[in-house]
Amino acid sequence: MFWTKVDGFAGVDPSQAPELAERVRIAAAFTFVLACTAFINAAILTYTGQGRPGMMELGLISGVLALSVGAVGIRLRRPNATIAAILVITALVFLATAWGNRGSFPPAAAYVPGIVLGAYIAWGWRAAIGAILPVGVFYGLVLKWGADFRGTELQYDASFMLPSLVIAAAMAVVWIVFFGSLIRQSSHESAAALQRKNEELTVALERAEAANRAKSEFLANMGHEIRTPLNGVLGMTRVMLHEGAPDDEARKRLELVNQSGENLLELLNDVLDLSEIEVGGLRFEDKSFDLSDLVETTVAPWKAQAEDKGLKFVLAMDRVEHRVLIGDVVRLRQVLNNLLSNAVKFTHRGQINVQLDQRELGDERIETWIDVEDSGIGIPQNKQARIFDAFSQVDMSTKRQYGGTGLGLAICDKLTRAMGGKIHLRSAPGQGSSFKVSIQNERGEAAELAAGEAQSQPVEIRDDFRLLLVDDVVTNQLVLKAMIQNTICAKGLVVDVASSGREAINLATMRPYDMILMDIQMPQMDGITALKCIREVPACDPTRIVAVTALASDGHEQQLRAAGFTDYLAKPVGIDGLRQVFRRMAEAEAGTATQAVAG
Ligand code: ADP
Repeated sequence: MFWTKVDGFAGVDPSQAPELAERVRIAAAFTFVLACTAFINAAILTYTGQGRPGMMELGLISGVLALSVGAVGIRLRRPNATIAAILVITALVFLATAWGNRGSFPPAAAYVPGIVLGAYIAWGWRAAIGAILPVGVFYGLVLKWGADFRGTELQYDASFMLPSLVIAAAMAVVWIVFFGSLIRQSSHESAAALQRKNEELTVALERAEAANRAKSEFLANMGHEIRTPLNGVLGMTRVMLHEGAPDDEARKRLELVNQSGENLLELLNDVLDLSEIEVGGLRFEDKSFDLSDLVETTVAPWKAQAEDKGLKFVLAMDRVEHRVLIGDVVRLRQVLNNLLSNAVKFTHRGQINVQLDQRELGDERIETWIDVEDSGIGIPQNKQARIFDAFSQVDMSTKRQYGGTGLGLAICDKLTRAMGGKIHLRSAPGQGSSFKVSIQNERGEAAELAAGEAQSQPVEIRDDFRLLLVDDVVTNQLVLKAMIQNTICAKGLVVDVASSGREAINLATMRPYDMILMDIQMPQMDGITALKCIREVPACDPTRIVAVTALASDGHEQQLRAAGFTDYLAKPVGIDGLRQVFRRMAEAEAGTATQAVAG
């Protein structure tokens, strides 16, 4: 009850800040004890009629002073300063009273328990013992003065001094037992409450992490499941549009189907990206890239669109001194594309400026600013803070008029932060907006850049290379086959296709392949079971079997490698990923060949 009032007076919540609450309670107890002592002292002096003139008033004033200092200190939530201030006041009053009543054993002895208690509850037993020692010495001196001045009119006689000593000792015990134990108990309670809260939080965190993992796996699976049929729809509409629709009406409908499919795919990619960023699942590449090339190639299509709309488009890169940097080109391009697409979408007259600036940060790092500025509709001040939240648009009319999902800027912001940068927005309605992206990169090596370009050349493979592609979805088979033909260079290349785990086992055991690209999630028999069966046939054992899967986290990769897969390829399969798989294979083969020669 007492403590709750103290907590309320100080405005401290013990469940949020247990340590502060405990110190505030100590300061309150100490204030209370010493103010009481001062009033008791004054009362004794009044009752006995002894002591020098002014001593009683000093007792009253010091009591009021202790209460006021305590109240202000506690209200300001400065418990340590409060305890220290009250200790100083008490020590001064104690000295003044004892000196004023020199030659006698004054009722000021009543202050002693307060000082000892203060030291104990504020700093523990050692401080209490440390406080008892000087106070004991002081008592000795007072007793000595009492003997020296015996016979003067100020003297308290021994029969008065002894009970006052006993009362002081009793008060010390009462204060210490009462407040000391109360405080210890309350601090134990808050420690226990804190521990309970910690345990609850740990359990809640574990649950949330498990739910989050389940969510991202679900999203990855769903993404995969939705993308596959969608690719089929888009692929077919593109073919039909290419072959020519029977009439204008049919063509319009086909274009509508195609556009809706594209929008759905974009939304799906955005949602997947956002969820991957949120669970920290996005991996960033650190490769040398040419900043000017990246910006020029990203800007080109938007420049054309802007000029089609009658806008002026200016790209200024003259302040770029460090062209070759290390970073993730794909993600940086994604951020730029998003900002440029908004600038073109929300600008109807005037111009779009893209300006680059750089400065050296020391330790080989370069800070680059990319400012995408437009003279478009602008964003009201009160909407600017929330514009980077997911699904946030200025208002419903924006959605009706311009479409969009409100995910683009959320993704840009999160990607930029994940790359160690930030985005600054300046905008005024009717005047335009400027989105300034800052990124920090290490300097790249031009030689590495050239090597990277060489890496994008097709991989040279043995002419009689035999490859088996296993996937239950025909669209995936076609896309992968086309990609393989663009990625490797092998004259007599054979690519066979299996649509199920069983068919893969049949083909692989009839005539072993050099490599199998194996889908993991297939009906009836999954890729892992198929791999195990193939591995059991000795002739097939050296085959490189690559897992191709939408379950794209580090944990999955480890599991699949542990199950016996030689390599791993995340879906949706990109040309780069596929090329790297072939490159790793070529390097492994070259390594084996060197070992064989050396052996
Ligand atoms: P989307 O463009 O898909 O709606 P974004 O997250 O990219 O989603 O943008 C969120 C909102 O921010 C937009 O709907 C628009 O209201 C506002 N916005 C973004 N860029 C600009 C810009 N350059 N000029 C005016 N408004 C903008």
